[in-house]
Amino acid sequence: MHFFSLNTGDQIPALGLGTWKSAPGLVGAAVTEAITAGYRHIDCAPIYQNEPEVGKALAECLNAGAVSRQDLWITSKLWNNAHAPEQVEPALRQTLSDLQLDYLDLFLIHWPVVFTPGVLFAQQPEEYIPLAQQPIIDTWKALEACKDKGLVRNIGVCNFSIAKLRALCDQATMQPAVNQIELHPYLQQNEMLAFCREHNILLTAYSPLGSGDRPKALKKKEEPNLLDNPVVGKVAARHGITPAQTLLAWGVHRKTVVIPKSTNPKRIRENLAAADLHLDHQDMTDLAALDLGFRFVDGSFFCGNGSPYSLQSLWDTEPGR
Ligand code: NAP
Repeated sequence: MHFFSLNTGDQIPALGLGTWKSAPGLVGAAVTEAITAGYRHIDCAPIYQNEPEVGKALAECLNAGAVSRQDLWITSKLWNNAHAPEQVEPALRQTLSDLQLDYLDLFLIHWPVVFTPGVLFAQQPEEYIPLAQQPIIDTWKALEACKDKGLVRNIGVCNFSIAKLRALCDQATMQPAVNQIELHPYLQQNEMLAFCREHNILLTAYSPLGSGDRPKALKKKEEPNLLDNPVVGKVAARHGITPAQTLLAWGVHRKTVVIPKSTNPKRIRENLAAADLHLDHQDMTDLAALDLGFRFVDGSFFCGNGSPYSLQSLWDTEPGR
């Protein structure tokens, strides 16, 4: 397994198991299967509503001596309804309790979007709080305090644009270690990659396989299919590997962490093997040509019905881009 260094000096495994949409009754077995296969990195979040089952599987693996805590890398996230500084540590403690852990390796702000406390998913205008009213820097300072207390080893963010990262870096005492964002050949985000390299922030690639199991409501009418792309297929055939392995090897080649989700034992192992595969210059050139700037997870679910958030404000793009 490859590791990447964070700006704190910690080493994060280059490939981890995603757990969004991993159903109750399946996610625990997936975590156990992954650890048995050699995964040492699990990506979690309270909004996935499966942390208690993940925690049970982790406890069983740890108690059985299948792995030691210091060899595991566990990431979780702060949900949108707990950005108020006084709510950050209680939300983290709930996640730690659910995961049956006494520290996280990485704790991330899940989205630069704020809901009213207690609201799981905002539907009405009054259930949103604009960032101007609940600034990210105040939430971040609460994450810094959690790190000072030893509850988390590293802190970072998800779904931050370059503009939001820049603002955070300017104001923060502790620099973010990670930005976890959607990355795959249809959304290569090369400007973000260059910015993060320059500022020593590691990128984690979420939805690296195109997130095909998202609920229909989160899909657009005519989405491009990543796993069926002929260029991906051609590169895969050249190396005798699968399209999924090609996509994951592409991410690792770019020195980004990849966190494919699977609850299928065969695919869990197939994906892990991808971290040790090597793509060559021609492969990377062919895959570079696939960029469409296309987001599978575009955040539009935060932008409806009187929300103060829009796609432009979320991603800091010009209208129409
Ligand atoms: P993904 O990993 O791109 O794709 C998951 C889909 O691919 C599932 O349908 C899975 O099915 C299938 N799959 C897995 N391995 C495969 C293989 N070898 N061949 C063919 N199909 C395969 O999607 P994702 O879940 O959206 O993203 C991965 C993880 O990133 C999430 O689970 C979550 O931990 C994280 N994430 C974070 C954010 C954020 O805002 N921070 C957003 C999205 C995702 P099976 O399970 O049946 O194998």
